[in-house]
Amino acid sequence: MKVVLLGAGTAIPARRRSPSGLYVQAGAEQILFDAGPGTLHRFHAAGGSFLRLRRIFLTHYHVDHCLELATILFALRIPHPKRTRPLAIYGPPGLKRLYHALNAAFHRWLEPRTYRLSFHELGEATIRLRGCAVTARRMRHSAEARGYRLQAHGRRVVYSGDTDACAALVELSRDADLLILECSTTDERKIAGHLTPTECGRIAAQARCRHLVLTHFYPVFEGYDIRRRVRRSYHGRLTLARDLTSFSLF
Ligand SMILES: [Zn+2]
Ligand SMILES: [Zn+2]
Repeated sequence: MKVVLLGAGTAIPARRRSPSGLYVQAGAEQILFDAGPGTLHRFHAAGGSFLRLRRIFLTHYHVDHCLELATILFALRIPHPKRTRPLAIYGPPGLKRLYHALNAAFHRWLEPRTYRLSFHELGEATIRLRGCAVTARRMRHSAEARGYRLQAHGRRVVYSGDTDACAALVELSRDADLLILECSTTDERKIAGHLTPTECGRIAAQARCRHLVLTHFYPVFEGYDIRRRVRRSYHGRLTLARDLTSFSLF
């Protein structure tokens, strides 16, 4: 299994940290989690093939996590090279409404011509795919949001999307081999609906994850010692992600 952070930042421009996107290759499946602006081109740079991409899981519908949906669907409509594989898109309720609104805004240029496109609005569910399974749980954010756990070949990768600390996140993250948590703001400037470094450390420790990866850093972290706060409670492997930080899990 290969995991690549396509975007480790937010909507605010930053060097080497773009809006949210995560690429997982698990056996035959190429999967995107979130699709913030610029995700498609970084997916390509990371070795992904937009013609082979079969599934996109969106955590929620804030622009920095989903706007690239329009770019992806537009690219798939262009006749050469021709898209034939079906594409399935998953997310919380509101997904179909988002698609119809984007498609209307772009004068129906997002509609598929040569492939089948399906939308799946999720509550809490486990979706079984070829050789892997994805579990969705409700998170605590200012919009309806989901966190996801992907299990393949006995390995677990968890991606929080945007969320505040909650029991569902700890449960979803239990024994994760790779736990990718949003870390939006400092301990001193906590914002409801997002995590701080100290909270990320606590969640990683409670969940007994093997490797914690932090992402989604706002500029407020400039010159801030994130690691020291995380280390108060979590002592396992720790990575502060940048665009294209990647991991191999076997
Ligand atoms: Zn958000
Ligand atoms: Zn966000």
